[in-house]
Amino acid sequence: MKPARNRNVTVHDLGEFGLIRTLQSTIGRSETSVVVGIGDDCAVLRGNRPDSYLLYTCDPVVEGVHYRPRDPARKVGWKAMARNLSDIAAMGGLPRWAVVSIGLRRNTPVQWVKQLYTGLHAAAQRFHCQIVGGDTTHVKHEQFVVVTLIGEVEKSRLTLRSSAKIGDSVFVTGTLGGSLRGKHLTFIPRIDEARWLANHFPVHAMIDLSDGLSNDLQRLVDVSPRGTGFEIDAAEIPIARAAQGKLSAALNDGEDFELLFTIDPRHVTGLRQKWARKFRTKLTEIGRVVRSHHKVALIERDGSKTPLTPAGYDHFAKD
Ligand code: ADP
Ligand code: MG
Repeated sequence: MKPARNRNVTVHDLGEFGLIRTLQSTIGRSETSVVVGIGDDCAVLRGNRPDSYLLYTCDPVVEGVHYRPRDPARKVGWKAMARNLSDIAAMGGLPRWAVVSIGLRRNTPVQWVKQLYTGLHAAAQRFHCQIVGGDTTHVKHEQFVVVTLIGEVEKSRLTLRSSAKIGDSVFVTGTLGGSLRGKHLTFIPRIDEARWLANHFPVHAMIDLSDGLSNDLQRLVDVSPRGTGFEIDAAEIPIARAAQGKLSAALNDGEDFELLFTIDPRHVTGLRQKWARKFRTKLTEIGRVVRSHHKVALIERDGSKTPLTPAGYDHFAKD
């Protein structure tokens, strides 16, 4: 079946992953200045520097989807910047420049917009990133903020989604689930942790968790070498307090903005020791990369193995 050619197929029918795959085939192959195009947390581009790449990413926040109309504007601004910073972190990079596109209803108080920019600026400044422009439009209904970020990463420190190796240990930072109870507006993007990791250890694959562990593991598997799978230990998954002990929330809620990465197991002891000295952020080994036919398996507490199907956030699934 070629669903995208059928006029009656909707974005709901394809789902978010399926839609992006369709767009990818429409755009076709990239030219040589593109090191990584669609498929990772950022596009990776050749700039003028011999030792580093440019990183390029954009993520929106939309009223009613990513925040509620009554959420404080400063927090909305923080989130809009921070979710993009999180994608730069996932590549092992540093953010440099941002442009910000906003859509406002005509009756929006200027004070609201100033607060929005206080939040955007605070998140950018914390990670030495500058807002250098943008665009402004009016909207009739829901407001939005789209941040586009350019970052840089040394070639030797670039961490891709596609670099998992069979035998690797799988780690996650922080705790997962329940983000909607508040953290989704105030989280700290893991730039410092990711930079430190890329500086001190040969990290293989890395992704930031935005759509739920179950979805984002599937994203890793989809771009990993053929025959690569993941085994995740249910008992090891660090469940956030806001998830109230629910494993399903930790697997599927989304908007955790934590890092998930894989590393050769011989570095695990050193990593744990050095991490504990450097960060208060939790670091947990949740599983391993195994030889398998492109599957993610959950190892239950009783040792039984079940497929971990993606049940995280999909923008086009029905509510
Ligand atoms: P993230 O959650 O890290 O922002 P996603 O997993 O949602 O990224 O996106 C996967 C890939 O698809 C990324 O490389 C992203 O740039 C690309 N992508 C998403 N939406 C579009 C789009 N509308 N057009 C082109 N590429 C897109
Ligand atoms: Mg991401």
